[in-house]
Amino acid sequence: MGWQELLGQGPVRRILAAEVTEGRVHHAYLFLGPDARGKEEAARILAQALNCETGAHDPCGVCRNCRLIAAGTHPDVRILVPSGRFIRLEEVRELCRSVPTSPLAGVVKCYVLHEADRLLPEAANHLLKVLEVPPAATVFVLIARRAYALLPTIVSRCQVVNFQPLPLHEAVRRLKDQGCEPEWAHLVAHITGGDLEEAVGWLTPQVRHLRQEFLVLAPELPLGKGVVFRAAAVLATDAPRALRLLSAWYRDLIVWRAGLDLLYNEDAKGLVAEVSQLYTTRDLLHAQWSIGRAERLIMGRTNVNVRLALEALLVELRAKRPA
Ligand SMILES: [Zn+2]
Repeated sequence: MGWQELLGQGPVRRILAAEVTEGRVHHAYLFLGPDARGKEEAARILAQALNCETGAHDPCGVCRNCRLIAAGTHPDVRILVPSGRFIRLEEVRELCRSVPTSPLAGVVKCYVLHEADRLLPEAANHLLKVLEVPPAATVFVLIARRAYALLPTIVSRCQVVNFQPLPLHEAVRRLKDQGCEPEWAHLVAHITGGDLEEAVGWLTPQVRHLRQEFLVLAPELPLGKGVVFRAAAVLATDAPRALRLLSAWYRDLIVWRAGLDLLYNEDAKGLVAEVSQLYTTRDLLHAQWSIGRAERLIMGRTNVNVRLALEALLVELRAKRPA
């Protein structure tokens, strides 16, 4: 029991355990990272460590406080798990109702908010107000997959703790176990950085079809002209994933030009070799930068015309040197 329960998250375990031991616990944390990587367990262990009756920094797991926290019934450890698609103001109000009062049975009150990236704006604003005036003996733990879906003002009030995704070889193995072909598993695991939850979303016939269409268009992208509009129409059908495919593709072109045979698109090595000759390395680095900018624009919260943004990007992907 205790911190050693947190598997595969050595740095997180060391940071949190040290902060508890040294009495440097922050009043708000943001646990960020893919699903199923121990974020919820870490919140529970942190609450136990702060309230364990033995006073040990590594919680015992057997005292009354530890047991009640593990069972989710401790009066000072409140957990909000969204019941619907979004977290509403009333839910946050209810969670925070006991913030001004003293702990009932424990030492430090803990408020754990699962899937904090689903906070509706008014709920987020209410939470922000609570975080702005940190109450004594209270710790908030916000759990989320990605920071960009949260108010920057909330993120800035939290100590951000990044949870590691699965090692890539392990992600590839698990995808193959789900019936995914080895090359596709390799590409998807790399594109999603080992985030299995996200990777599973790539295992649909629609995404496979998008990739096939992408491979037909990819050799034409350096030429520009008519392909810009055809490609934008195709990529706009699933812009977030299409941009990840583009990014992985241009990454591979750069890697290949650098003489390295370490491709994400292992199944398209011949095509990578061919297309990489149409660009200079400088063009490719610029292309990668442009793709990153388009991703931020399209994935951000701004109201952007996706098709137009993709067309503008694809114009920039033309090779500058004569083909
Ligand atoms: Zn205990």
